[in-house]
Amino acid sequence: MINNTVLESVDIERLKEIDRKHFFHPTSLVKQHKEGPSMIFTEGNGIYVKDAYGKEYIDGVSTLWNVNVGYGREELAEAAKQQMTKLAYGSSFYNFSHEPVIHLSEKLASLTPGDLNVFFYTSGGSEANDSAIKLARHYYKLKGKPEKTKVISFQGGYHGITIGTTGATGIQEYKDMTTSNPPNFFHAKPHLLNCEKGDKTDPDYSESIRGIIEREGADTVAAVILETVVGVGGVLVPPEGYLKAVRELCDKHDILMITDEVICGFGRTGTMFGVENWDVVPDMMSLAKGITSGYIQLGAVAFKESIRDEIIDLSGDNFFFHGFTYSGHPTACAVALKNIEIIENEELVGNTKRLESVMMKGLKYLEENHKVTARSRGIGLMGGIELLADRDLGKEFDSSANAAVTVVDECIKRNVILRALTFGGKNIVPLAPPLIINEQQLETIFEVLSESITAFEKTL
Ligand code: PMP
Repeated sequence: MINNTVLESVDIERLKEIDRKHFFHPTSLVKQHKEGPSMIFTEGNGIYVKDAYGKEYIDGVSTLWNVNVGYGREELAEAAKQQMTKLAYGSSFYNFSHEPVIHLSEKLASLTPGDLNVFFYTSGGSEANDSAIKLARHYYKLKGKPEKTKVISFQGGYHGITIGTTGATGIQEYKDMTTSNPPNFFHAKPHLLNCEKGDKTDPDYSESIRGIIEREGADTVAAVILETVVGVGGVLVPPEGYLKAVRELCDKHDILMITDEVICGFGRTGTMFGVENWDVVPDMMSLAKGITSGYIQLGAVAFKESIRDEIIDLSGDNFFFHGFTYSGHPTACAVALKNIEIIENEELVGNTKRLESVMMKGLKYLEENHKVTARSRGIGLMGGIELLADRDLGKEFDSSANAAVTVVDECIKRNVILRALTFGGKNIVPLAPPLIINEQQLETIFEVLSESITAFEKTL
């Protein structure tokens, strides 16, 4: 529980006015800029956050799926302070280095599966995916296959919002921001297990990864990038055998398999990395969010030692022209190391695995006790429930019903923050609480969500 200062209402109104005047919000409903913010967060502790009026909420989604160790961790603030005081910033361009980036790389190598033992750092998930895609194309260029440039990802997949990753992101709403998206990105229907195993009689075959590779020609495809568990696109867990089938497909066609672990990494699915659930080792893996639990910006691309070795061998005297000012920022690396120490010492991966059954039971309860709920799914502490106007017919709500948004607003009234995913006309409410949550707190989230769905149902 948090107990601290509450702002005066006159101060809150002033903050709102300044926000309205001078701040443009990322990923936001544009017209709300006219009104100013609906909530100003002031504090966080454990699984709780507090707003300027002093109202306390359970954070049911770890804000943006990232605050894995919860709020108010003095150890992380202390790690940042110590590093900032010692060496506030240090570049790792050229052959410069510094202690935090060296220690973090060693630690990550001890955790990541297989020979994913080399790390390139960024400031977040979009930059990590952008770098992975660029690295894949660079790799094939060095190998004398410059025509291998195409990238296949999922329809409904989310990989970020830089110009490059907007190409990989398969959610149309993000692509429609501008009239120009990068070429050479293709989107497959997610999780077509039979197709990826080679069943050409399936009517969806042409929209499978395998179908796209055949159509475009494997000699033009550099990479397949997919979220281990699809997050923003609606919490979609891959069927048993799917990731293995993609792995085999990529091996067969000399295509790099990149798994986006920006959400799944660092415990979310009940294993340190999501791919461990299916015993698959990709060629590259992008990391962000849980790497620092959101305390400071950091992302990374993990890649195979064999790829690193080939790049070095083939580069001769050439330069590697890719690096961010904040690649491997010392403070971010120091915080990441401490954050991983907390995840390990408090056995948060084990806690997540243990609470998976509570998550699945809660989702099933919602599905069975409300007439608008369907298709619950989840793994670890990552769950989702879909709202449908007619479950039997699989009919979606009209957008004017504002189904998921209304349910989430009802939750907020009841002191639980959740999120509405409304892409492609769907209405999905995801759950992804901090990994420190306990059984009773998780049950409270489900009670509130159930009451909120009932409140929405009464409006129909
Ligand atoms: N990949 C996935 C799976 C994500 O969920 C996100 C962010 N929601 C990103 C990439 C992009 O990360 P960032 O916002 O840090 O750029």
